[in-house]
Amino acid sequence: MNYSQRFTSAQPKRSHRAPDLSRLRQHMCNELVRRGITQKNVLYAMSTVPRHLFVQDALRSQAYEDAPLPIGYGQTISQPYTVARMSELLEVEKGMRVLEIGTGSGYQTAILAQMGCHIISIERLQELFRKTQTLLHQLGFRGIHLQRGDGTLGCPQAAPFDRIIVTAGGPKIPEPLLDQLDPENGILLMPVGSKQRIQEFIKIRKVHGVTRQEACGSTTFVNLIGSYGWRFP
Ligand code: SAH
Repeated sequence: MNYSQRFTSAQPKRSHRAPDLSRLRQHMCNELVRRGITQKNVLYAMSTVPRHLFVQDALRSQAYEDAPLPIGYGQTISQPYTVARMSELLEVEKGMRVLEIGTGSGYQTAILAQMGCHIISIERLQELFRKTQTLLHQLGFRGIHLQRGDGTLGCPQAAPFDRIIVTAGGPKIPEPLLDQLDPENGILLMPVGSKQRIQEFIKIRKVHGVTRQEACGSTTFVNLIGSYGWRFP
């Protein structure tokens, strides 16, 4: 499918002063390559999903800068580099079953869907859940199922998952998520830190029942709030 065509109608009309968003998106991808992103499926998704539709209208012209942006309710859409890096660290392949905790704007969800994954994504906040559900439906993404609730409990009825991605920072990896990771060939990625807003990416890999853990660099996410996360906003 030609994704640039598919999203054309959703783009605002261009005037001589409006920024050329597809050119900005291409520039964003060039920067991702310059910063070390190499996986083709990640770069394809980043170059085709219209990030400007996942941010507030007034911030559209900033959508392709490498920065997080507010999405309301005290939450943020992650910066493009972080989304690309997480997508790479997750080592996804077409057809994989992915559990995402912290849907937020739905941008990371859309990137994974564009890479061919089947995703269950859980969001704690009702308003964001509704808004993002409407947007993803309007954009015609397939293979995405959104749920509202405490994602630290996971989704036991749909387990095991090939991949689990947590896009909010917590003090430790929630036990239920570890239990719901495929024991044969599962990868879980989450920002973990004992102080709020200062975390390290922790990558857990399960191969034939054996679990290995790896630290993959520092990062900053909003709080994961729930039974197995922070107890307060
Ligand atoms: N990937 C998203 C990140 C959004 S910020 C994006 O780029 O837009 C993190 C999100 O996690 C917020 O929307 C927040 O409400 C949500 N969140 C925090 N704790 C949660 C929990 N226990 N379960 C589900 N979602 C949670």
